Amino acid sequence: MPLSLNVRTKSRNEMVDITRSVAEQVTASGISEGLCVVYVPHTTAGVTINEGADPAVCEDIVRKLGELVPAGDRYRHLEGNADSHVKATLVGSSVTVLVEGGNLVLGTWQKIFFCEFDGPRTRRVYVRVV
Ligand code: ZN
Repeated sequence: MPLSLNVRTKSRNEMVDITRSVAEQVTASGISEGLCVVYVPHTTAGVTINEGADPAVCEDIVRKLGELVPAGDRYRHLEGNADSHVKATLVGSSVTVLVEGGNLVLGTWQKIFFCEFDGPRTRRVYVRVV
């Protein structure tokens, strides 16, 4: 099994900064140069990289996704979370970050965000450093 972390979300739609937890997994791997793959094994959640300095950015992303993919639409999936599946596909289920000197290579403003679209739940995120 790959290294993994748990993410506990508090809202139906939410972005959670997991950068520190991912960085800890990189340290635990003992690998100093390589690639860090962060993978979300869920169909109604995803992962992305975006600005972490201003929390309004994540609020804007969550709000805009909600406008683009409204909960009440003519969906055929009858589980009540069709919008969650669509949003998860738009965001994607993995990111890859370079590792240099044992550290994630991220831009000044970049953070890794777990994207919840059908919370609140406890979710799993896999991390593999190669
Ligand atoms: Zn569903």
